[in-house]
Amino acid sequence: MKTARGSPGAGSYRCMCCLRASPAGVYGAAALLSMCPECYELTSIEELASGGRWLGGAPSEALAKIAAVERLGGDASVWSELKTKAERAIAEGSGA
Ligand SMILES: [Zn+2]
Repeated sequence: MKTARGSPGAGSYRCMCCLRASPAGVYGAAALLSMCPECYELTSIEELASGGRWLGGAPSEALAKIAAVERLGGDASVWSELKTKAERAIAEGSGA
């Protein structure tokens, strides 16, 4: 069931993860899930990482996207757990 998302502005929606306002109609699947493109991709990275399966480059990609969320004005703290995992994976030399 869909719930009210508030109105960050005409033609835009608020990311359900980082609460960043994103323009609607630009990001396809991410917009359908009320996510910004960064959080959308972080979600799929997290899904794989939670099974301990970092794809090649995924840890550094995750860190870059978390940094992008922060830079774009989102609440990057929602990704702090994934950030820790990614940093650990890089430190251990797996998948970076
Ligand atoms: Zn987001």
